[in-house]
Amino acid sequence: MVEVKKRVVNLKMFIDGEWKDAENQDTRPVINPANGEVISYAPEGTAADARAAIYAARRAFEEGVWSGISAQERASYLLKIADKIEDYADELTQLETMDNGKPLREAGFDVGDAAACFRYYAGLITKPDGQTYHVADPMQAMVVREPVGVCGLIVPWNYPLLMSVWKIAPALAAGNTIVFKPSEVTPVTPKKLFEIFEEVGLPKGVANMVMGAGAVVGNEIASHPEVDMISFTGGTKTGKHIMKTAADTMKKVSLELGGKSPNIIFADADFETAVDYALFGIYAGSGQVCSAGSRILVEESIYDQFVARFVERAKQIQVGPGNASGTEMGPLVSQEHLEKVLSYIEIGKQEGAQIACGGKRIVGNGLEKGYFVEPTVFVNVNEEMRIVQEEIFGPVVVIQKFKGEEEAIKLANGTIYGLAGGVFTNNGAKGLRVIKKLRAGITWVNSYHPTYNEAPWGGYKQSGIGRSLGTFGLEEFQEIKQININLQVEPIGWFSN
Ligand code: NAD
Repeated sequence: MVEVKKRVVNLKMFIDGEWKDAENQDTRPVINPANGEVISYAPEGTAADARAAIYAARRAFEEGVWSGISAQERASYLLKIADKIEDYADELTQLETMDNGKPLREAGFDVGDAAACFRYYAGLITKPDGQTYHVADPMQAMVVREPVGVCGLIVPWNYPLLMSVWKIAPALAAGNTIVFKPSEVTPVTPKKLFEIFEEVGLPKGVANMVMGAGAVVGNEIASHPEVDMISFTGGTKTGKHIMKTAADTMKKVSLELGGKSPNIIFADADFETAVDYALFGIYAGSGQVCSAGSRILVEESIYDQFVARFVERAKQIQVGPGNASGTEMGPLVSQEHLEKVLSYIEIGKQEGAQIACGGKRIVGNGLEKGYFVEPTVFVNVNEEMRIVQEEIFGPVVVIQKFKGEEEAIKLANGTIYGLAGGVFTNNGAKGLRVIKKLRAGITWVNSYHPTYNEAPWGGYKQSGIGRSLGTFGLEEFQEIKQININLQVEPIGWFSN
């Protein structure tokens, strides 16, 4: 760990192929959430730094050093990046755990997924696309896909590496140049990723990274006229702000936002499987997962039995530093986020909900230095409560009771969000019937959370616009051009003179 720790002292931004401090030399400490220690200092980029990155990306795009090379050539860079991610897998895993707090096991999966995502888009970009149309003679009509141009990519802190890759891989595959902003809370693995871009020799200006505050750097990227598209992952409130900001220059906008996703357990489900996935659905990533199954809806005939078993298992979850052996759930990402989650627990109590387990910050054994919260369960809740309606983004779940399919669907769809949802039943027809009624973009039957590079990721309602991953995730970063070719080159003869 010592070696890895040494490597991250004093991060830099990557602009036009050069490693840079902020133009005014400002920095921000990066904190290890498991113990509150400063692990690094990151440049606190300014609007001028963001503009330098935007101009570099614009120049690289116009010169065609990336969009002008063949898809095969771009794919070969992406494949090299995937190989390097695997070469550095141990280091990336340790850095992710140190910066975000997640257990090494989770960080390791993210690193593997990141390499696979680059490979997926390396493959996809070399496959056939476009369409031709049978229009009236003598015309031939067709469609081709082209890069959008300069893409601004802004990501959150919960999957610092993987959320970056979900945007960067398809954006680069499509031939765009990028201005990327990691979360100010977790810039460490994104920095390592850009070291890899330098190592594989991406042409200067193709991939730029500016660190710093959302309101400064992010806002400059969202508002600047030389940025053609914004792809944002983060909170719904920030997403709305970005959409308004981007409207002035009519940027293409893609938004992956928050959720309050339902996990519906019918009485005929395989009981232990349902309990197990429901635990995974909320406590993986300490609940800091956009698709977290943060509202468990249980059919009334098994409600008491389900709550008892769920609580019994939640109490056994091993909470601790992400790099300690046996840790199953790590800390929250920051002091600020810890305070937000604890304040929601207070709100729940004041609203009259009952805590079935957890509910407190964890102290003792040195854990008080970090931002640890007990796996928490609220029962006796109703639809009007804020803890049922709002995204808490921590290890806090509400377990609601329902009677029959119709009420399950009504409760499941009863928030402003529509990101994800799960259904547990041994009745196949019922499972599909209920899933089809869910107003959500990502769903599972008898499962929760698995995500695939091949399949689209994104939300209905206020959980966002557009999709990441799969063919849909590539299309987000492409313009569609109609080309009409006259096969009989002679005057049209519309006007007599
Ligand atoms: P956030 O919205 O606070 O910040 C996300 C990013 O936006 C950060 O890089 C931040 O610096 C930047 N930002 C903040 N204000 C900005 C502004 N005015 N202009 C431009 N950029 C700005 O979110 P967070 O707290 O980092 O992450 C948690 C949220 O992300 C949760 O709501 C979660 O559900 C969501 N999320 C969604 C998905 C998804 O796929 N739908 C995935 C992961 C996280």
